[in-house]
Amino acid sequence: MKIAIVGAGIAGIATAFELMEAGNEVSVFEQHRAAGEEASFAPSGLMWPCAINPWGATAFHQALQLGLTRPAFSELQVQGSMLSAPRRWARRQQAFAKKQRDREFLPDLQALELLAMQRMQHVQEMLDISAQFSQGLLLPLRKEPGAAALYELTRRLSAAHIDYRRCNEEETRSIEPGLATDIQLAGAIHLPEAWSGNGRLFSQGLLQALQTHGLQVHTQHAVSGINSTASGASLQLPSGEQHFDAVVLCAGADTNRLLRPHHVQLPSAPIYSYSASIQISEESLAPRHAVIDLENNMILTRQGSRLRISGGAELGYPDSPERTEDARHALVSVLLEWFPGCIQPSQSILQMWRGARLTMADGLPVVGASGIPHIWLNTAHGGMGWGLSMGCAHHVRQRLMGQSSSVEPEALELQRLR
Ligand SMILES: Cc1cc2nc3c(=O)[nH]c(=O)nc-3n(C[C@H](O)[C@H](O)[C@H](O)COP(=O)(O)OP(=O)(O)OC[C@H]3O[C@@H](n4cnc5c(N)ncnc54)[C@H](O)[C@@H]3O)c2cc1C
Repeated sequence: MKIAIVGAGIAGIATAFELMEAGNEVSVFEQHRAAGEEASFAPSGLMWPCAINPWGATAFHQALQLGLTRPAFSELQVQGSMLSAPRRWARRQQAFAKKQRDREFLPDLQALELLAMQRMQHVQEMLDISAQFSQGLLLPLRKEPGAAALYELTRRLSAAHIDYRRCNEEETRSIEPGLATDIQLAGAIHLPEAWSGNGRLFSQGLLQALQTHGLQVHTQHAVSGINSTASGASLQLPSGEQHFDAVVLCAGADTNRLLRPHHVQLPSAPIYSYSASIQISEESLAPRHAVIDLENNMILTRQGSRLRISGGAELGYPDSPERTEDARHALVSVLLEWFPGCIQPSQSILQMWRGARLTMADGLPVVGASGIPHIWLNTAHGGMGWGLSMGCAHHVRQRLMGQSSSVEPEALELQRLR
């Protein structure tokens, strides 16, 4: 089949790999001059388990609360009147969080995560892309969490078959010797089998490899519309209309604009968050693993000789230098609090970035049929798009090629929210 993919973020590139491997002729259309310029630019890098990502699935996010009082920056901040789209979305998310306590979807997320890791391993066996992968994740605890909250978190970890260990302070410090000595710790939760990596490096490496195998990549090609026809689907491009047997929309935050004329809309919201990347100046005092600060909802990952810390969640706020400066201050303060010796306090940030996580109210992505013939979706991955990329791409491949998938199709399609 001749297939077009709209969008060259991590989702589009991973989908191109899967569809090419299945024997299809694939073309990617990207509006920017280069791939990975939007949400895939500088994510924090947590890959597996996605379930523990504080910006991941809504129900798990609730479990991660651990009874902590959190500063404003760590929570979703919404701007708009009561009836505005951001407020409506936030209310819907809260309703889902309550509902999901009863109707758990963890098995679906777990199946998708497993698929993602298997496919990532498959890609690595074939192409060996170097993407600063690192193993292990620590959730340090400043104070003893409430028993009920800890029970809920560990219950979910066990249900998701995630291997974890509750550590005391001494064990925690032996795992991360750079942790500040003036913080009194109530231990940590350690996930030795977690993985993180540099999503941008991975997608660039994968794209390069695919181009040598015949992938057509059309950068600076903004798709202005999509149409479904009797024999396939077509894209409206500045150069005219192009016809394909199928189109996969991996257009991130632009997906709803392309779907609108077809009366299909994702109940999703672009939640903006920030990441700061900083050069390590003292390796022996730097974190060895990924770390999640549960109080501040921040993720700290190693990206080679750099650290990346991400956090914040804004809905309905325009980009502003003041908010970016506040975010920079919040991120660097938390980094220096936990690992004071690894960077110089006066050190300048190599890269400060604000990106949108297109998020569904239940936190799960939308992957599969769109309801419009010959048009498929792989989008709205929230805070888990890098970690789930190869799993979502493989699921689209199986659905599009009419094969059965190890993930329940209804769990990832739009109908689940109806
Ligand atoms: C601060 C931050 C931290 C994050 N941390 C993590 C993490 O730790 N782990 C994790 O798994 N995920 C994380 N994420 C989420 C992850 O980055 C995203 O889920 C993922 O990058 C989404 O990829 P995508 O390809 O769907 O979207 P995008 O990268 O946005 O790609 C969509 C592409 O489509 C193109 N496009 C759109 N419309 C058109 C059009 N009409 N014509 C042509 N091209 C078009 C865009 O230009 C863009 O390149 C984080 C996100 C942020 C913002």
